[in-house]
Amino acid sequence: MVTEQLDFSIKSSKNILLVSHINPDGDTLGSMCGMYSLIKDNYKKMCDMVVVSPYPTTYDFLPYADKVKSLKEMDLSREYDLVINLDVADIERCADARILFEKAKQSVNIDHHETNTGYGDINIVEPDAAATAEVLYGICEKLNWTISKESAECLYVGLMTDTGCFRFSNTTERAMTYSGKLITVGLDPADVYQKCYESNSKNMVLFQSYCVNKAQFANNDKIAYTVVYKKDMEKYHHTEGEDFTDGLTEKLRAIKTTEIAFVVKELGANISKVSMRSRTANIAQVCSVFGGGGHKLAAGAVIKSNVEDAVKQILDVINNKNLC
Ligand code: 5GP
Ligand code: MN
Repeated sequence: MVTEQLDFSIKSSKNILLVSHINPDGDTLGSMCGMYSLIKDNYKKMCDMVVVSPYPTTYDFLPYADKVKSLKEMDLSREYDLVINLDVADIERCADARILFEKAKQSVNIDHHETNTGYGDINIVEPDAAATAEVLYGICEKLNWTISKESAECLYVGLMTDTGCFRFSNTTERAMTYSGKLITVGLDPADVYQKCYESNSKNMVLFQSYCVNKAQFANNDKIAYTVVYKKDMEKYHHTEGEDFTDGLTEKLRAIKTTEIAFVVKELGANISKVSMRSRTANIAQVCSVFGGGGHKLAAGAVIKSNVEDAVKQILDVINNKNLC
């Protein structure tokens, strides 16, 4: 039903905007570029695409990434016929693109976060899907959309990155079946893997080792965490084009005793960002306390405190909820 509404909306719209979430990851970018490619091939329509903060240059290889615009390049007074948010759990996660979303004649919210509030005119939200790219693949099947090699590459990036290369607990039979089907239209999984995960700078790998090396532990090693200061990022010559902390939290969860792992990153004087992972505990509820969210085992939030206070508050919330 909702997919038919989406089909009708695309058909009846002249100008369409696709939106990804702040601090873009492989799923939001893969889903956005994938949607661009799918609409181009199946409806012969070109969409606009916007990122609300810089994305890692790792993803420059994505088909149509060269068409992506920054928020600065957008006319925020424009009224689009249709705006589609991809992988945006709540409307705040797309910063000022929210203005365009709310102004649109019709708005669509395609996502897989359990915490998604259903803020669009049309909501296609499937918490059982491993990635928004998986939700998109389901839409392709329902609407009989043709999937080109370019579309497949984009969707595969979403599926591969959100499942941690098909290792996390969200890796279902469906996620793997869809990925397999994407391979049949010609994408090369080893090539995509290398582009996403083996294209880091020397500085980034050394920086992550440094962060792991100074990790701290609590609750009999059931909690593992580390903090990331701006000055340390600068020392390792961090550039805006690289997500220096990508995959860092998982490195702490790799320790056998870890139940909950988190990384707190300094964003400014009194503002920090937490990235949290767990083995079994529901940590989306921990991040919700700070106005963030995500999934049961992978969540995040922005906390209005310095790094040290943020750590204390996070430990308090975990302990108050008796999570481990
Ligand atoms: P990461 O730790 O990789 O940044 O994010 C893990 C998961 O938590 C992702 O699914 C992401 O969408 C979600 N997430 C991360 N940061 C935030 C945040 O500030 N707010 C919300 N609502 N979700 C977040
Ligand atoms: Mn996602």
